[in-house]
Amino acid sequence: MIIIMKDGASKQEITAVEEKLTQFGFQTHPIYGETKTVIGAIGDKRQISMNEVLLMSGVENIVPIMRPYKLASKELKQERSTVDVGHGVIVGGDKLAVFAGPCAIESEEQFIKVAKLVKESGANILRGGAFKPRTSPYAFGGLEEEGLRIMRKAGDMLGMPICTEVMDTRDALLVAKYADVIQIGARNMQNFKLLREVGRVGKPVLLKRGLASTIEEWLMAAEYIMSEGDSDVILCERGIRTYETSTRNTFDVSAIPVTQELTHLPIIGDPSHASGTYKYVPALAKAAVAAGADGLMIEVHDCPECASSDGPQSLKPEKFDMLMKELKGIASAVGKEL
Ligand code: PEP
Ligand code: MN
Repeated sequence: MIIIMKDGASKQEITAVEEKLTQFGFQTHPIYGETKTVIGAIGDKRQISMNEVLLMSGVENIVPIMRPYKLASKELKQERSTVDVGHGVIVGGDKLAVFAGPCAIESEEQFIKVAKLVKESGANILRGGAFKPRTSPYAFGGLEEEGLRIMRKAGDMLGMPICTEVMDTRDALLVAKYADVIQIGARNMQNFKLLREVGRVGKPVLLKRGLASTIEEWLMAAEYIMSEGDSDVILCERGIRTYETSTRNTFDVSAIPVTQELTHLPIIGDPSHASGTYKYVPALAKAAVAAGADGLMIEVHDCPECASSDGPQSLKPEKFDMLMKELKGIASAVGKEL
């Protein structure tokens, strides 16, 4: 439920309401607006007398949250959230966030080369995998901590935040030590223990949509992270499994406006994993921006033919550069900067 405080309610009044709710086993999440404060309260309503809360000083009203996801819900917070990912980059808001880099970190030389090029083209966040979820147990699984070290070095050198995936609860603290944004991949979107663990480490989280997940299941996954106290969740639509086989996945462009109606969390599009083929990446990237996405995640490799993972969908740096130029007009048509 949401406790709506009166305009200008004092800090003491807000704290008193939070204390009362906590006493009855509720988790409280205050949201301070310009004039109004609302308190999201998650718990068992049967444990508390609503009238008692309603009569407290400074309380204006109490409304239930109807959706199964509460903290992620637009009912709790109408203004769109932004996520500060460090190095002056904000995801959400007027400037598009472009996460770019290779699928996997293969060597320091390779990563730094691609990182410099994507930065020159206007990317503002570096992406790369150190722990790779691979379909085959015999495929390259990532450089693990060495990969994280390389990414951090590149990020610090170029003054850019870095985003990388964690696959196992046992690596959450290690990844958090290096990364600015922790990625939960599509295959782990419903790994509930991992979601909880990542929600506790205090870093922004990029939550990819599961391979065959509904938007509601995806938002419930975001709720898991947020219920552990981490409100900095960025959603990423990366295509879903359908009967269509001409692309790796089907890019659900409608997920962008639909999630924006249901949640305050920012959402970006990943045309690389959605299409699986580099030549379709520009069209899907443009569609995502035109539909109102807060940013993009794009795989870029200097030698896609030699890439150890996802080469066929990786853009060469020149193609990425061209795409970034083409995106400018679309971004400005929808009121965004690039
Ligand atoms: C990735 O970002 O490289 C990745 C494995 O993505 P997804 O989880 O969307 O397949
Ligand atoms: Mn990949």
